[in-house]
Amino acid sequence: RYPWTDELEHNLQQKFKLKSFRSNQLDAINAILNGDDVFVLMPTGGGKSLCYQLPATVNQGKDSTTIVVSPLISLMQDQVEHLRALHINAAMISSKDSSEARRDSFRMFRAGHLDLIYLSPEMLSKSEQCKSTIKKLYEEGQLARIIIDEAHCVSSWGHDFRPDYKLLSFFKRQYPDIPMMALTATASVKVRTDIINNLGLKNALMFKQSFNRPNLIYMVRPKNKDSMFEMITEISTKFRSKTGIVYCNSKKQCEDTSRLLVSNGLSCAFYHAGMENEDRSEVQMKWQSSEIKIVCATVAFGMGIDKPDVRFVYHHTMPRSLEGYYQECGRGGRDGKTSFCTMYYQYADFKSLESQIKRDKSLTNKVLKQRHLEKLHDVLNYCSNTIECRRKLVLQYFNENFNVALCKKTCDNCKASNEVENRDVSEDAKVLL
Ligand code: ADP
Ligand code: MG
Ligand code: ZN
Repeated sequence: RYPWTDELEHNLQQKFKLKSFRSNQLDAINAILNGDDVFVLMPTGGGKSLCYQLPATVNQGKDSTTIVVSPLISLMQDQVEHLRALHINAAMISSKDSSEARRDSFRMFRAGHLDLIYLSPEMLSKSEQCKSTIKKLYEEGQLARIIIDEAHCVSSWGHDFRPDYKLLSFFKRQYPDIPMMALTATASVKVRTDIINNLGLKNALMFKQSFNRPNLIYMVRPKNKDSMFEMITEISTKFRSKTGIVYCNSKKQCEDTSRLLVSNGLSCAFYHAGMENEDRSEVQMKWQSSEIKIVCATVAFGMGIDKPDVRFVYHHTMPRSLEGYYQECGRGGRDGKTSFCTMYYQYADFKSLESQIKRDKSLTNKVLKQRHLEKLHDVLNYCSNTIECRRKLVLQYFNENFNVALCKKTCDNCKASNEVENRDVSEDAKVLL
């Protein structure tokens, strides 16, 4: 037991209304409360937020504030609302706030009364007011720790690089004695090393667990002229009035696919980066509240989406990386119930994505371009592999050695290989008879 154990258990139950910890949560929390730097690697939906929200409420009788950096304003808003509903003192500051809202948040932040303050990365690294407030809290011993959520954004190897995250390196340089926690669901070793180096974590204790999502069924199907029809039929029957996502590769494909689904009587909208912010939030909100069942989206629809009952995720075109694929499939089945992840693959899509990357003018860095092409090749290998367990292939990408016996025919390849084995056995049996 630690000096904070009683308060921790009390807050878990009384403030967060949760009964027990999930795997790794308690160990990570004890480590950060103990003053260590901490690295939390947990799959999407695993419960990373609690690893910093709960310790933020454990103040042991004095004011102290936890700073949380998160890449998306919508993500921060959701969390702050959730915490406030639990009567926890939390606020956020971003460049998008009205000056009035910002003044209010800064006042509370500076007074040291907040348990959690959510800051956008550019706020933390660029705003002078923010820097001086942090300094003040630090000098008064009220700066508890700093949390970098979605920490893979710091790495250009990751699928979601944010240049502003690089600037966060100033924090450990300026406040080396303040503990830092980095959290991500991206487990590749390259990304992990980048995070530790760029943020300057010191002897960080690493908490990781299997990334296998046993309730997700993985399938790759050949894509041809009937695929769209097959998908629509499946959604209308097997997934009738269920919630899902159809990932598409372009804005136009999102809109066309959505239109087709609607004309087939399905409840569907599209979502991509070319839309106005308000239109996007509206689609997200209606989907979140189940007013719309299906979203045809580009990868822009992703981070911060936390709907528990997503029953299917289709990739109508192969994704650009396995990391992205894992994350996108990972939006399914957060409630722990079975969800189906189906990808349609044809070689022509690989060629067109390849040439898109080659032509991409925004990718001026040759090395970076090469990385993107390598990642696409990894997806190609994944799709064309009709033998090995899909889980093994996906998890291998995250350097996890998966025991294929645990798949239990929940991917197309394991299912098929089993049927072949059975047939072989019966052939043998015939000969013997
Ligand atoms: P992540 O950030 O790892 O994707 P979240 O922190 O958003 O995951 O948590 C996912 C869901 O799991 C949330 O709905 C959260 O309330 C729930 N959750 C987290 N920890 C626990 C727990 N110990 N007991 C029950 N539910 C939990
Ligand atoms: Mg999270
Ligand atoms: Zn398998």
